[in-house]
Amino acid sequence: MPEGDTIHYAAKRVGEALTGHVPDAIETPHPRFGRDRWPERLDGRQVGGVDARGKHLLLRFAGGLVIHSHLRMTGSWRVLARGERGPRSPRAAWLVITRGPYVVVQSNGPVLELLTEARARTDPRLAQLGPDIVAAAPFDEARFLRRLHEDDPTRTLGDALLDQHIVAGIGNFWKSEACWLAGLDPWRRLADVTDAEALAVVRGVRPLMRESARHGRQSDYRVIYDKAGLPCPRCGPPGLIRSRGQGDDNRTTYWCPVCQT
Ligand SMILES: [Zn+2]
Repeated sequence: MPEGDTIHYAAKRVGEALTGHVPDAIETPHPRFGRDRWPERLDGRQVGGVDARGKHLLLRFAGGLVIHSHLRMTGSWRVLARGERGPRSPRAAWLVITRGPYVVVQSNGPVLELLTEARARTDPRLAQLGPDIVAAAPFDEARFLRRLHEDDPTRTLGDALLDQHIVAGIGNFWKSEACWLAGLDPWRRLADVTDAEALAVVRGVRPLMRESARHGRQSDYRVIYDKAGLPCPRCGPPGLIRSRGQGDDNRTTYWCPVCQT
C-alpha cells in the first residue's frame, strides 16, 4: 500500500537513477497525457532531485519544472533495468523515463501533473501538509499536536491519523499498526487522547516507517493489519484482532479490543 514510507523509498530509488542526469527519453504513453507535450517541455533538462513529501512525490527538473505525483491506492513507481519487463501491462504506464541503464515507470495513480516550482510551492495539497513522519528532518511534534487540537474533538484517533494536514505519510496500514504499537484504541475520540498518548503513537511508528523507507519492505512490519480473527500477538488469546470501517471514507481499521484501551 503506497504510504509515506513507500513513497520515500520510491523517491530514493528514482533519485538514484535520475538525479544529476538529463534523461535519454521521456514518454507519456497514456492517451490522457497525449496533448500535454511533456517530452518536448522536458527535453534536455537535467533532473535536479526527487523528493517525497508525505505521500506526494516531486521530480524536479532544471528550469523550474516539477512532476508531481500522488499514487493513492492504485499507482506505483518502479525503477527497472533497461530491457527488463515491468510487472504491469505497458498500457498502464503513464510516464516512462529512460536514463542510461535505467527505466523509471510511473503507472496509474490519480495525480500526475507537470507544475512550475512556484505553483508546487503554493499548491494547497502540498503547502498544507502536516509534519512528515518519514522525513529525515526532526518531526515537528508541536505542529502535530496543534493540528490535532484544532480538529473536531469528537473525531476518532484512527480517522485523524489518516488526515494528511495533521501528520503526513500515515495511511491505512500504518494507522492500524501505530495504534496497536502504542496500545491505544483507534476508536477513542480526540477529546479523550492526551498529548503524551498522541506523541506515543507517532514516536513509536516513526522509526519503523523510516526503516521501511530505506529498504522498501513495508510488509516486514505487518503485525495486525489484515489479520482479523487471529489472536493478538501481544495478549491473545483472549485478545482477537477485529476489523471495521472507520471515518468518513470507511477505511478498515484493525485493532485488539483487549489490550488497546
Ligand atoms: Zn491485544
